[in-house]
Amino acid sequence: MYNIGIDVGGTNLAAGIVDEKLHLTAVKSRKTDREADTEGLVRAMTELACDLLAESGISSSKVHSLGLGVPGTANRETGYLEYANNLPNCVGNLCRGLEESLGKKVYFDNDANAAAWGEYLACDNPPDSFLMVTLGTGIGGGIILNRKLWRGINYAAGEMGHMTIRYDGEMCSCGRRGCLEMYASGEALIRQGRRSMEKNRDSILWKLCEGALPCLNGKIICEGARRKDAASMQVMEEYTAYLGEGLVDMINIFQPEVLCIGGGVGNSPDILMPLLEKYVAPRIYSRDSARNTQLKPAVLGNDAGIIGAAMLYACEE
Ligand SMILES: [Zn+2]
Repeated sequence: MYNIGIDVGGTNLAAGIVDEKLHLTAVKSRKTDREADTEGLVRAMTELACDLLAESGISSSKVHSLGLGVPGTANRETGYLEYANNLPNCVGNLCRGLEESLGKKVYFDNDANAAAWGEYLACDNPPDSFLMVTLGTGIGGGIILNRKLWRGINYAAGEMGHMTIRYDGEMCSCGRRGCLEMYASGEALIRQGRRSMEKNRDSILWKLCEGALPCLNGKIICEGARRKDAASMQVMEEYTAYLGEGLVDMINIFQPEVLCIGGGVGNSPDILMPLLEKYVAPRIYSRDSARNTQLKPAVLGNDAGIIGAAMLYACEE
């Protein structure tokens, strides 16, 4: 059997057919119409799923379920997308219309939860407890306890990016100051890198960016560190100190078996992971315990959201 996953983003709708071994056998995407209402979004997802099936040659009878990862609060009891600041017109019941148009059971969840679920299932031996932190424009997160997604009483759990690491720090979009996301997201790393470039005209980062500050990204900063550029290494050390402070808090609260790091910065694990291990290990409360949390880079990359969404049914069974 197969399952279809749709990752509903503010820019793209990306759908894929996933087999029982978590392989993505076909993918298709289209632009998200940000003006569309709930019905329009349901129609676009129905068309996308039908086109995907037609192009892949997989019969609908071989599809068990469909899963959605949505950028907002997904009330699984009612099927309502309750809050989505990127898609404000799409707040409403997404599941019922899709179930009617496709004739399949629809599961849905927050997109960060779906990605965490995908990475969790991709572990060789999925552990009992697992946290995922995704370092992108912001910081997303997902919590898996006792082999199930932990969603909180209102489906809004797992916002690890909005824990405060500096009470008088930078203003965050959530209305508070000093959130982890302001210091340890992929965007924050780029800001820190640009500040360093302005101070260090001899840094190799200028050459790697071909002289253009706006071209800087996390991958380039990691490449600078890989080449032992002093400015790049200092940026990465400061960045991992901020991120590490957040991870130590998460470990102290949950003591999970695995803490998985994903997102753009996580794509350079050879640079990021040793720095993080060095920062985190001596600071966790349980540093003298025989067993401690394993830090692990994500493995599914950008496909985590689709694969996790497709497999959401497995969180219910
Ligand atoms: Zn915040």
